Amino acid sequence: MMFRAITKQQTGKSSSPGHSFAPGYHVIALSLLFTFVSLFSPGCFSPAIDWGCSAAAAADGLEAERERMVAQQLADRGITDKNVLRALQTVPRHLFVPKKTRRMAYADVPLPIGHGQTISQPYIVAFMTEIIQPGSNHRVLEIGTGSGYQAAVLAELTDRVYTMEIIPELAEDAKDRLQKLGYANVEVRQGDGYNGWPEASPFDAIVVTAAAEFIPPPLIDQLKEGGRMIIPVGSPFYVQHLMLVEKNQGRITTRKLLPVRFVPFRRSE
Ligand code: SAH
Repeated sequence: MMFRAITKQQTGKSSSPGHSFAPGYHVIALSLLFTFVSLFSPGCFSPAIDWGCSAAAAADGLEAERERMVAQQLADRGITDKNVLRALQTVPRHLFVPKKTRRMAYADVPLPIGHGQTISQPYIVAFMTEIIQPGSNHRVLEIGTGSGYQAAVLAELTDRVYTMEIIPELAEDAKDRLQKLGYANVEVRQGDGYNGWPEASPFDAIVVTAAAEFIPPPLIDQLKEGGRMIIPVGSPFYVQHLMLVEKNQGRITTRKLLPVRFVPFRRSE
């Protein structure tokens, strides 16, 4: 998946010339304290953003890379939901991509995950997550498990995540990965997500991560009253847009949000 219409914002601040700053002892002491807290609270402390502290934060030495990703790719581009930012700070994205692309895991790009599929770039994952307004008591359906990364992000924020993947090997790998990482609130099912997951419906939110030519009617049916769905709609080889679908008092409204490029929504034969 690729999102091309992003312009990077400038984040560098220039300091005024002619001002020198000689740190006193209190500044050095504060810096030491800061370093100490940062080292012993991985993922929980940032000078830029107040994260709070998540028990699930992984101490894997890549906290700084994730912090940079969150600050530069997400917060600077307008993702404001603190919980969403914290979820992307917490989930170890490098464990969701093949070993040979791990050094790119926190870069501003989509990455291949095998079988011709891709994991979306972090901004798109955050954007789609923020737009469904995830609540801690929500039940969410994802169509297109892929690596399981988006499902893990949703699982950091909501009570239950149901995710469907049409390619058996990807479904199996994602299931193992999510289990090993302790995401007990995610259920993975292999199959064509066109028909949704009726037994677990209705859903507070639905996230579709493959581009469909039209919004599958069964997914609209399985959306709860007041629910939200985000789905890329358009031709596989032409323009696609992320669409927000809302159900209010039985009425369906749709809104075009962003031009995007996703892998195609497939159907089982
Ligand atoms: N959300 C994923 C990225 C998914 S890429 C992640 O975080 O890694 C889109 C995925 O949708 C692919 O893995 C593709 O196989 C899957 N897919 C396409 N059509 C589908 C369908 N009808 N039902 C379920 N999965 C589908």
